[in-house]
Parts: sequence; structure tokens; C-alpha cells
Amino acid sequence: MKDRYSRQILFKPIGEKGQERLASSHVVIIGCGALGTTTSEMLVRAGVGKLTIADRDYVDMSNLQRQQLFTEQDALEGTPKVVAAKQHLEKIREDAKIRTVLDHVDGPLLEQLIVDADLIIDATDNFETRLLINDVAWKYGIPWIYGACVQSTGVVFPFVPSNTACFRCLLPVLPSVSQTCDTAGIIAPAAQIVASNQCAEALKWLTGNKETMRTKLLHFDIWNNSFVEAGISRIKNKACPTCSEHPTYPALTKQEGTNYVVLCGRDTVQVTPDPSRHITMSDGEKVAKRLGIEYRLTDFFIEFYMDDYRCILFQNGRMLIHGLKEISEGRKLYHQLFG
Ligand SMILES: [Zn+2]
Repeated sequence: MKDRYSRQILFKPIGEKGQERLASSHVVIIGCGALGTTTSEMLVRAGVGKLTIADRDYVDMSNLQRQQLFTEQDALEGTPKVVAAKQHLEKIREDAKIRTVLDHVDGPLLEQLIVDADLIIDATDNFETRLLINDVAWKYGIPWIYGACVQSTGVVFPFVPSNTACFRCLLPVLPSVSQTCDTAGIIAPAAQIVASNQCAEALKWLTGNKETMRTKLLHFDIWNNSFVEAGISRIKNKACPTCSEHPTYPALTKQEGTNYVVLCGRDTVQVTPDPSRHITMSDGEKVAKRLGIEYRLTDFFIEFYMDDYRCILFQNGRMLIHGLKEISEGRKLYHQLFG
């Protein structure tokens, strides 16, 4: 072990003690795209004992330009991102404990995932999930490291409950949130810089170097050579439902019934059926057979086309409908399939 981590142990703020702390740490990474693949690889290499990685998607060719753990074969086979990531990470370090979750992360799921976690890394691409992470982090007193990137820009900040204003307080002043990688593009260096900064903050927290953690929000544009830090301590909202004295954690309230979401910029509607419906891949197979549609079955999902829309149904009943921009269209199509 010493040899493997010798260069990191030589770095005084970490040392042998810090290395031992890393080995007994558990980090939860939400999202397994550019930020999730890079942070998970860095933390596995650094010797973090246990990782939980959650993501709802599978590998696509357009991911390979920046999502560094994935290969062409993963994209050709449409392997779920968490499955491909685990395979590659275990080749990097055999003794890493890697728990993967192929699902859309909602409040109740996130509350399960963070049991015994030391830290949460935000590797998502949307603000709804970040609000969830923020609520869970404050409810259970676990720090989380916000990271976002689009085009050549990025933002990083470590939120430590009780020390900082929370993400919800900050929302009104955060840099432009309307663009995503899928609509505005992104270059890999922007993602790598965000991921590296997130990992540096993670290493500081996990090895007991809390006092060196970033206290100002970092915003950079690597194409236009600007790195700006912004103080945010005064932004705390006294009536915030997450970090005030009487929190209600609104993002954690479970929605009832079947849930429809448009995945931003991707022309995809995600349908999460009410759990009481118990829809599985074999229901998808039955429907495809009944309608005389050709389908492809993998270990993780069933894929078929319905009216030119590509449908991917996962084992837990969650379905992605590609080619749709409106929830109403998704609802209609889902009803045609499953009633
Ligand atoms: Zn707040």
C-alpha cells in the first residue's frame, strides 16, 4: 500500500495518517458523465475506500470526447454509465469498493445512498438534483462539492453545512444556468478543471485538512483566460428552507404517481412510473410483442422504436423516450404502451 500511494503520502498535508483516512472514507458521486468519470477515477487512484456512483443514463458516442473512463465499445453496446465505470475503475484498483446505482436519483433514493457517507460530489447536469443534494447534505450534515461546466466555463464550490450559505441561498446569484452541455457544447478541459478542483476539495476534507478548503466560489473561463473568485458568505438567506433554523427541505418531498421529466437539451422525456405499478423489462417485451415491434434486449434495458421514437426501458420500470421535447407527448406515448 505504501508503495502505491508513496507520492501522495510524501505530500505532507496528507501523509500516512491522511492516507489511512482516505482508505476508510466513503464518497457518493451523483452523476457519471464528464465530472463523475474524472472524479471517480481520481478518488479511486487516491485510495478512497468506498465509492457510490449513481447515474440514470448509458454511454453514447457523443460522450467519448470528454468522459474519460468510457470506450467506443461501451458506446456501441450502450452500456449503462455506472456499469462501464465500475468495470474500468476495478481494473485501475482491484480493492476499491464500488457500489453503483442505475437510476434517476430522487429524495428517498439519495437518503439511502448517503448512509455512512463522508462526502457527496455533485457530478450532475441539472439544478433539480443539486437542490436535492443540498437538502440531503444539510439534513444529515454531510458536505457536498458543487461543480458545473458548460462551453469553456466552470464553477466549483464546497458546501459545508453550518459553515457556509447553502446552494439554495446562492441560486439567485449563480452564473448563467440556462445552458447545458447538450445545447451549448463543452470542451474537455473545462470539465477536467472542475473535476480536479472538486477532487482537491474532497481530498482536503477527507484527510482532515478542513481549514484549507476553498471559501470563495471559483468561476473560470479557460478559453478567455479568466479565473474569478467570489465571496459568498453574506448571501445566506435567513428564511432559507434548507439552511435556516427551521428547515423543511422541500426538495426531499416525494412526488406521488408517475413522474415525467424532460431531460434538458437532449430531446428526451424520462418516465418514472409509480412504484405500485411494478413495470419491468419483461412488461416491455410483452408490449413490443403485442404491438409487433422489433426490440433489442440487453442485460440492463429493452430498446424498441415506437412511432420513430427510441424507447429504452430499464428493469425498474424507468423509461427514456428519445426524440420528444414535451411531457404531454411522453405521457401520451407511455399510455399507448402501458395504459
Ligand atoms: Zn440556504
